[in-house]
Amino acid sequence: AARTGGFRFDNTWHRNLAGTYVEQAPDTAPDPKLIVLNDALAAELGLDAAVLAQNPAWFAGGALPEGAAPVALAYAGHQFGGFSPQLGDGRAHLIGEHVAPDGRRWDLQLKGSGRTPFSRGGDGKAALGPMLREYVISEAMAALSVPTTRSLAVALTGEDVRREAGRLPGAVVARIAASHLRVGTFQFWAARGDHATLARVVDYAIARHDPDLTGRDDRVLAFFDRVTTRQTRLVAAWMGLGFVHGVLNTDNVALSGETIDYGPCAFMEAYAPGTVFSSIDHQGRYAYANQPLILGWNLAKLAESLLPLMGNAEAAVILLNERLAQVEARYRAEWLAVMRNKLALEGEDGGDTDLAEGFLAAMEGQGADWTLAFRRLTDAAAGDVTPLRALFADPARLDLWLPLWRARLRSDAPAHLRRANPLVIPRNHMVEAALQAAEQGDLAPFRALVAEVTDPFTDRPGREAYALPAPSGFGDYVTFC
Ligand code: AMP
Ligand code: MG
Ligand code: MG
Repeated sequence: AARTGGFRFDNTWHRNLAGTYVEQAPDTAPDPKLIVLNDALAAELGLDAAVLAQNPAWFAGGALPEGAAPVALAYAGHQFGGFSPQLGDGRAHLIGEHVAPDGRRWDLQLKGSGRTPFSRGGDGKAALGPMLREYVISEAMAALSVPTTRSLAVALTGEDVRREAGRLPGAVVARIAASHLRVGTFQFWAARGDHATLARVVDYAIARHDPDLTGRDDRVLAFFDRVTTRQTRLVAAWMGLGFVHGVLNTDNVALSGETIDYGPCAFMEAYAPGTVFSSIDHQGRYAYANQPLILGWNLAKLAESLLPLMGNAEAAVILLNERLAQVEARYRAEWLAVMRNKLALEGEDGGDTDLAEGFLAAMEGQGADWTLAFRRLTDAAAGDVTPLRALFADPARLDLWLPLWRARLRSDAPAHLRRANPLVIPRNHMVEAALQAAEQGDLAPFRALVAEVTDPFTDRPGREAYALPAPSGFGDYVTFC
């Protein structure tokens, strides 16, 4: 265990997909320091946290656990609608695939770990703040039961990186994923017209994520359907939480259905459909309410990349177009299921979409915090509407809506609502404060924040500071990739 830390690597991508990656080791960090280690995740994965803690260079760069075979993966992607035929891991290394004691297979990837042949102009590095952001938000998402990559550790490299803000401490996040296959992975080979490699990569994706489809004649279309199911569910879950991913380029859409790439993401506070946080999203392409539409667009790009593998082109176009035409309805069904759960509705009724949209309409323009409005339905269901009404500048529409909602409630509504709607999410101002303190060398606020956001549903005294929206002085929140 001293040489492996419990990692049991079985590197199928490295073994089976030669030509789709470049062998490349992470840079050697001058002074590796492990500053965050996810003990709970390590335990789930069958890893020995004590051994991991003794090997900071496994995470910051410079050493590898036994069995690792580090590579940088090729992928393409549509970024803000424009196609880049070659992106790839420009600052990340896939270290290997770990097989956990339960038999599940996980990619271990380092991000911020140095330049690769895919780096283009970038330095291959990452600053501490964004790596800690990925850690805390991905762990919050996992605690909220949203499919997501996980964060195992954050390590300081001991060297500074140069960013617009000046010199910042350099860091690496170790991320765990069901895989790093993206829509952009297929696009890379489709764009080159290399259909033989495309077929190998697609069959690899099927073996990895939908092995029951292996060998079926209709497996490519069936795989498209599986990805559609996972992605419509994922985006519906985000919408239920007010989560804005911020950079839904096709290279950031994972075929596993996990949330991936925590760059400029943030949680919406006051409900506003047009909410955008990213400093570079000037057109609002990836705004909160646009996410379901962009999902349809990204799935169309997936369909285009699969088309060459579907034999008779015209029949395949018809089949894929039929599927694409169904994406909106499939998403709406997933969203309605999320909303029925968040509103604690009894069974299903034809008026439920209107009821759910009625709550959103009552919130819009009233400054009502998304997370707290749903959470305070708990009190409202138990007979006390005061905390909920207090969130609304003008609760007139809410007052009209409440009796319609009450008529549809499950008998166990208060208890159900408390389980369905988080009290604590990663609040933007709390995240920023924790990251700033960490940059100054104080990790206590970050650790406290992680503890809070990974226990999102529990009511207990002392959590108020973590549950409330940003004070008005915090201003509009702007995030950076
Ligand atoms: P992202 O916006 O994080 O999805 O990244 C888009 C592309 O830019 C990917 O190919 C990344 O590997 C690459 N990239 C992002 N930051 C850097 C960096 N600092 N150095 C090199 N490549 C980078
Ligand atoms: Mg990315
Ligand atoms: Mg990124």
